[in-house]
Amino acid sequence: QAKLTGRNKVHYFDAHLDEEVRTHHNRRTEVRAALRAGELCLFYQPKLDMRAGRIIGMEALLRWRHPLRGIVGPMEFLPVVEHTDLIVEIGDMVLRHALRQLEIWRASHPGWVVSVNIAARHFQRTDFVPRLTAILAEFPTVPPRMLELEILESSALADIGHVRAIMLECQALGIRFALDDFGTGYSSMSYLKRLPAEVLKIDQSFVRNMLVDRDDLHLVSAVIGLARAFNRSVIAEGVETVEHGAQLMRLGCELAQGYGIARPMPADDVLDWTANFASTPAWQRAALLPID
Ligand code: C2E
Ligand code: MG
Ligand code: MG
Ligand code: MG
Repeated sequence: QAKLTGRNKVHYFDAHLDEEVRTHHNRRTEVRAALRAGELCLFYQPKLDMRAGRIIGMEALLRWRHPLRGIVGPMEFLPVVEHTDLIVEIGDMVLRHALRQLEIWRASHPGWVVSVNIAARHFQRTDFVPRLTAILAEFPTVPPRMLELEILESSALADIGHVRAIMLECQALGIRFALDDFGTGYSSMSYLKRLPAEVLKIDQSFVRNMLVDRDDLHLVSAVIGLARAFNRSVIAEGVETVEHGAQLMRLGCELAQGYGIARPMPADDVLDWTANFASTPAWQRAALLPID
C-alpha cells in the first residue's frame, strides 16, 4: 500500500489529518462520557490571608477521576472541549458541585468565598445569567456572596461591553469576580477601569520567578499598585515557599494561594486540613516578618 509516489504521499498526509480529527473527536466523546459517568469532580486549593494567618476560602479546580489513569488535570482534557458546548455543561456541573460544598462548609466557615473558573465560551453565552440564577436557586441556603467567578483576563478582552454587562448582572445577584492570570492578557488600564472585578489574581509565572527575575518582581509590584489604584483586592497564585509569601507582603499583597500553602485536595479533606493548618507555624512566622 505504501508506494512512495507523490500521490500516495498526499493520501498518507490526508489520512494523517483525518486521524487527528478522529482522535480529537474521540477524546471529546470520552470527556462527555466521563461527565455523564460522574467521573469529573472538584479539588479545592486554599486561599490564605498571610497577615491574619487565616484561610479565607478555596478555589475549585476540575479533576477527572479516570478509572485507569487516576487523577487527570484539566489541562489534559479541557482544551479539546473548551470550544464546544460541552464546556457549558461542564461549567454548570462545576457550579453545582461548588455550591453543594458551600452548603456544607457554610455552617463552620460562613466567611469563606469559593471561586470557580468559568470558560469564556460559557460566560459569554446570552443565557449565562438565567442559567446561573436557576442554579443558585437550587441552593437557597448558600448566600451568593460566597461564590466568586474567575475569568481569564485574556477572555475578558474579547468584547468588553458584553463582558461588563454580564459582570454587572451577576454582581446584582451578589456574586464576585476575579480576573485570573492577571498580567498575561495585555489588558490596558482603561479596560481594567471598565471591568468591575473585585479581585486581581497575579499570574503564577510572575510570582514564581519574582525572587530571581527583577522584571517579574517589578511586574508583581505593578499589579499590586494597579489593584490599589483601582481599589481592587489582589491575590498571588503560585506561592511555593515562605520566601515568596514574605516578599509579597513586603510589596503589599497579603492574600496568597500556592503549593507552599497547600496543593489542591479532595473536598472531603478540606475541613480537616483547615483545622490542622491553624497550627502550622511557617506561615504564621512569615506573617510576623517585619515590613520595610
Ligand atoms: P488557574 O485557574 O490559573 O489555576 C491555577 C493552577 O495552578 C491550577 O492548576 C493549580 O493546581 C496550579 N497551582 C496552584 N498553586 C501552584 C503552585 O504553587 N505551583 C504550581 N506550579 N502550580 C500551582 P490546574 O488545577 O491544573 O488547573 C489549570 C487551569 O485549568 C486553571 O488555571 C484554570 O484555568 C483551568 N481550570 C481548572 N478548573 C477549571 C474549571 O472547573 N473550569 C474551567 N473552565 N477551567 C478550569
Ligand atoms: Mg483560577
Ligand atoms: Mg490563574
Ligand atoms: Mg492559569
